[in-house]
Amino acid sequence: MKYSAWSLLRGAFSGHRNWPPAWAEVEPRPSYDVVIVGGGGHGLAAAYYLAKNHGVTNVAVLERGWIGGGNTGRNTTIVRSNYLFPESARLYDFSLKLYEGLSRALNFNIMLSQRGLVMLAHSRHDLDSMSRWANAMRMNGIAAELLTREQVGELAPALDLSPQARLPVLGGFAQHRAGTARHDAVAWGYARAASALGVHIIQNCEVREFLRDSGKIVGVDTPRGRIRADRVGIAAAGHSSVLAAKAGFKLPVVSYALQAMVSEPVKPVLDTVVLSPGTGAYVSQSDKGEIVFGAMLDLFPSYAQRGSFAVTQSVVAATLALFPSFSRLALLRQWAGIVDVVHDSSPIIGTTPIPGLYINCGWGTGGFKAIPVGGWTLAHVLATGRNHPLAEPFQLSRFTDGRLIDEAAASGIAH
Ligand SMILES: Cc1cc2nc3c(=O)[nH]c(=O)nc-3n(C[C@H](O)[C@H](O)[C@H](O)COP(=O)(O)OP(=O)(O)OC[C@H]3O[C@@H](n4cnc5c(N)ncnc54)[C@H](O)[C@@H]3O)c2cc1C
Repeated sequence: MKYSAWSLLRGAFSGHRNWPPAWAEVEPRPSYDVVIVGGGGHGLAAAYYLAKNHGVTNVAVLERGWIGGGNTGRNTTIVRSNYLFPESARLYDFSLKLYEGLSRALNFNIMLSQRGLVMLAHSRHDLDSMSRWANAMRMNGIAAELLTREQVGELAPALDLSPQARLPVLGGFAQHRAGTARHDAVAWGYARAASALGVHIIQNCEVREFLRDSGKIVGVDTPRGRIRADRVGIAAAGHSSVLAAKAGFKLPVVSYALQAMVSEPVKPVLDTVVLSPGTGAYVSQSDKGEIVFGAMLDLFPSYAQRGSFAVTQSVVAATLALFPSFSRLALLRQWAGIVDVVHDSSPIIGTTPIPGLYINCGWGTGGFKAIPVGGWTLAHVLATGRNHPLAEPFQLSRFTDGRLIDEAAASGIAH
């Protein structure tokens, strides 16, 4: 069913009781051309692009919980492409461009809001490194604007810009095309569009083991039976290394909790995203009015989707130092997701050492913005057996031949 103003009106006349399910509930078939492990944004997008771009529709997405219940539904929804190296700039800007047309492509409102992103400089050193960063973006063809303190104040008037501020703001830079999108809508939009093209989306279906034949992966074992597949793709974020171990290879991934929290909803006070790389804190206001606080990693490996109090406390302290008026807000909820961090803070998309098995992981704290490109490039390698040119630099082999794309060191990207 096509969503439109007309279908909304028709729904209103029937009391909104006759909407069909957005995606079909199905029983798994005994075999598929492609099985994707993980029903987060990347797995669902890969399934959609397999069907849409490559005509491969005999595909199942197996999700152990509910779709979007992993990091895709737990993140702070920021989309941007302000990376430093050309390889990253190409990858993330392609993703942002796909986001710009995604509501129309999926016929599902993902509520993309290009409200801009302001990075704060708290020292002369920050100013120097941000001017290098913004200039690198421009050389990569991505617009960025260096900002004085006054210009930062015009974009985010609630910031404390006084010289006595605990965290002085000397300036910063902005990517005006950056912003936010509704995370659940991205998962649901891809699921609905993939299902409409014939993809099976199967929830409550954990992949427990891989099936092999002469060393090649030929399917998966689940509580709902064995499912055979010519090719299997993993898109399981913080659980990627667990699945890789089951398949018999090692990933350079460490799983950490990354937490976030929201305040009670208030009237509009902040219409851009503000990120303070020096403190790891970043803030935006959701369409519902909640102030969304993002944090740095809980820097010890964990699979507990909670996050530790010390990090909660330091993020709240940093945010209140930046926005003193937020001290009067009540914090409503805090949560965490398990993110897959690799030491150059760049993703891994492509083949694995095991024939028949492909992977998309390593997005760490920043893979929501990359869902469209992550799905696009995983679909490409699953359909053709060849890496997509955008994904070529992001192979697992870079950790053995030393061609790291170290965004963590270069631009201090944590999110
Ligand atoms: C608090 C927080 C804030 C963040 N903020 C941002 C942000 O502002 N911007 C940004 O770009 N990124 C952000 N991120 C990162 C982003 O959310 C992730 O990189 C992205 O969502 C990863 O998507 P995914 O589809 O790979 O993983 P997920 O959405 O985690 O999906 C993986 C799925 O695999 C399933 N799975 C795992 N094991 C199995 C198995 N054995 N069998 C079947 N299914 C399995 C899981 O249940 C899960 O649903 C944030 C993350 C967190 C936690």
